[in-house]
Amino acid sequence: MALLEKSEIDILLSALQTLQKGFDHLPEFSVQYDRDKLQSVLNQVARRMQDNYPYYHPRYAGQMLKPPHPIARLAYALSLWINPNNHALDGGRASSGMELECVVQLGRMFGLDKPLGHLCGGGTMANLEALWVAGRVHPGKTILGSAQAHYTHSRISEVLALDFEALSVTNDGRMDVSVLAERLGQSDVGTVVVTLGTTGLGAVDPLPEILELREKFGFRVHVDAAYGGYFRLASELAADAHEAFSRTGEADSIVIDPHKHGLQPYGCGCVLFRDPSVGALYKHDSPYTYFSSAELHLGEISLECSRPGAAAVALWATQQLLPMEPGGEFAAGLDQSILAARDFWRRLQASERYRVLMQPQLDIVVFAPDGPDAKQVSEKARQLFEEAAKRDLHLALTEIPAAMVSHYWPELHLNRDTVSCLRSCLMKPEHLQWIDDIWSTLESAALCLNH
Ligand SMILES: *Cc1c(COP(=O)(O)O)cnc(C)c1O
Repeated sequence: MALLEKSEIDILLSALQTLQKGFDHLPEFSVQYDRDKLQSVLNQVARRMQDNYPYYHPRYAGQMLKPPHPIARLAYALSLWINPNNHALDGGRASSGMELECVVQLGRMFGLDKPLGHLCGGGTMANLEALWVAGRVHPGKTILGSAQAHYTHSRISEVLALDFEALSVTNDGRMDVSVLAERLGQSDVGTVVVTLGTTGLGAVDPLPEILELREKFGFRVHVDAAYGGYFRLASELAADAHEAFSRTGEADSIVIDPHKHGLQPYGCGCVLFRDPSVGALYKHDSPYTYFSSAELHLGEISLECSRPGAAAVALWATQQLLPMEPGGEFAAGLDQSILAARDFWRRLQASERYRVLMQPQLDIVVFAPDGPDAKQVSEKARQLFEEAAKRDLHLALTEIPAAMVSHYWPELHLNRDTVSCLRSCLMKPEHLQWIDDIWSTLESAALCLNH
């Protein structure tokens, strides 16, 4: 599998020629630079960039990194010759229009009719906006999330000067609804952050039960589906996860990261609000940005000002090529990830060499080498991580609370607060085909450990 197909560059060149035709009427103009120097610096960059894990390759099965689809890479690159800014229509007419279309498609995936929403730098920015709106709607009230919610929520709450409380999770990493119900009885809760696909474990919080509690207690529901949102399209989910994703559209706000599972380059998050009237909260009086037309400028409904139009162009192109439809090619890729995780988990479970925790709800598998106590297991996990890396198999390490591990592994002696485990995000559709290879490489690394 090559990093670069030369034909991709030919496709880009042809598209650039088409783009050029739109500007042919202008007087001749070119930017001057020293070609030799430029080439030399660029090669220097290429050598520096060799210092990376091979994220694009299926043997990279560690952290949450999924390579952009070639269409996204090419469309992004193509748009850099214009470099539109989606802050205002003046800075990016075409790409602003594409962004609005993308947002409609993303909203439709969740069953939202006319959401207010926009793209932004990523899940952190998107969650910041959602919680900012939540704080404006319920000033001074507490925000609740689970202990497995992304750590960004407690930091964002600090920025917004709102209280954030983390509620305990059940052994499978999902928000404990009975703990939530009890906490809601004490009032002062403005918003509950529901994570559909936690960053650590891929756990899916029980949204249906939380929506039921909303009936009684009347808080805002914010769904953080930065990681998991696209699994709304998958058909291989277990029933409870499927039910949670299918009700996402009932949340007040939703965050999804096209740069996580949506095949986009970094710098592409999205926030959606079910009730478009929250747009009024963004009101401001910029004296200079919005005078060219009466149409909506994206900067009027987002906290960030300048933003890459390229991100919208890339996402739009991807949605054209791979429409977000259940049963479509894009959805099939997500199902392959789920199946890969299930296959990997079953092999680990069947082997005496490893211990597994919860069965994956999405495509993240957490496991550890067998051992008598938390310290030795943690040490062996680190060694296995390194031995696998020597064989070009890249996994990730994660610290799991000892109490959670002990549920799946009662005989483990707990002489440490957390247990270092291995974590594998099987995000690429190709991972399913590569499980045999990943497994045999892991086995050879593990055999080496025991000797
Ligand atoms: C990744 C992630 C975030 C943060 O998003 P960034 O795009 O990294 O800023 C927030 N919440 C969840 C659930 C995530 O997986």
